[in-house]
Amino acid sequence: MENPFSLDGKTAIVTGASSGLGRHFARTLARAGAKVALMARRAELLAEACREIESFDGRAIPVALDVSSGASIREAIAAAETELGPIAILVNNAGIAISKPVLEVEAADWDRVMDVNLRGAWLTAQEVARHMVRLGHGGSIVNIASITAFRVAGQIAPYAASKAALVQLTRAMALELARHRIRVNAIAPGYIETDINREFFASPAGQAMIKRIPQRRLGKPADLDGALLLLASDASAYMTGATIAVDGGHLHSSL
Ligand code: NAD
Repeated sequence: MENPFSLDGKTAIVTGASSGLGRHFARTLARAGAKVALMARRAELLAEACREIESFDGRAIPVALDVSSGASIREAIAAAETELGPIAILVNNAGIAISKPVLEVEAADWDRVMDVNLRGAWLTAQEVARHMVRLGHGGSIVNIASITAFRVAGQIAPYAASKAALVQLTRAMALELARHRIRVNAIAPGYIETDINREFFASPAGQAMIKRIPQRRLGKPADLDGALLLLASDASAYMTGATIAVDGGHLHSSL
């Protein structure tokens, strides 16, 4: 029987692939057989991530992208399509957080977070969807949201608002794009250990936070692989507009 999770020969784009979760997602998709365009602003880090994928005979190319620029998005997607063929999968992962008390958040902070996390994700999904509609082959868009879309924490008001809007955008795009055989879903990760937060979670405040997660541990990037491969592949052929939380039970804990 054919493996419904296989991505053999499919072209995938991962934004924000220079570090953290994005870099891991690119590796996971390549291991499942996809040809992956790794996109972010830092070219040297992308080249290093591509070399890692090539070391296990995966296919990967680096493409410079700034999701706060519509022109950059159009150029990057066209380059990926020329190089790797019609795009079947987009993982909209680029994101930033600015941590400040709500009374100190400035309009410029708000704009930066919204520009990358919401406007950037929307413009990238729209451009990829236009390519998919033009070529008529359908595809899968996976937006990387956060459990803060549903359950907030202190000092991240613009971030939480951007992720809640991304979840609603996922539903809105799913509704309109279903007729083109394009599925749009999201993953809402809980706290996942990456280079940026490793130090914080080693601190007493970080350790206290881990105790509030029902599974009493942080997630690892690999904990997201199941949801990613499900949503990216034909295994989720009848899923669209859904958001899957991968969070050790954090979202629904009463603590
Ligand atoms: P990270 O900072 O390592 O990764 C963010 C990536 O986005 C980087 O590659 C960065 O270069 C890229 N990026 C930022 N601005 C960009 C821009 N203007 N154009 C193109 N790329 C840009 O952080 P991460 O933890 O790997 O986060 C990845 C995604 O996962 C984000 O959307 C984040 O909100 C989400 N997330 C992370 C966690 C977690 O615990 N790590 C939890 C929930 C959601």
